Amino acid sequence: MKRIEHLGIAVQSIEQSLPIFEALLNTVCYKQEAVASEGVKTAFFQVGESKIELLEASNPASPIAKFLEKNGPGFHHVAFEVENIDDEIVRLSKAGFQLIHHTPKDGADNKRIAFLHPKSTNGLLVELCQEKIS
Ligand code: ZN
Repeated sequence: MKRIEHLGIAVQSIEQSLPIFEALLNTVCYKQEAVASEGVKTAFFQVGESKIELLEASNPASPIAKFLEKNGPGFHHVAFEVENIDDEIVRLSKAGFQLIHHTPKDGADNKRIAFLHPKSTNGLLVELCQEKIS
């Protein structure tokens, strides 16, 4: 793992949360992006070498909608940047971790991503991400 790339925060409404996080972090949101395959809308803030990602459900079947129902808004996942996501998936499966995605998929912010199941990580939802080379 190279660094913490971002922390994901589940929110009911990005529109309502933007001014709160802009005031908190003293910076403006630099990107908003919908990820249709995950049923989420995202908004990103740069914080030093890491980011904060706000996540809003874009439909009722979205994993974020289910999370909000169960837990309310707040911390959702930590994303680690990795050198080679394919190698990390193999390494972590061999080490006994349960992967939600066995092959990387397209995520927000120009990344290939894969999630680990929180069952195998002491309840922590972990995202692996690697910048797409374009
Ligand atoms: Zn994320």
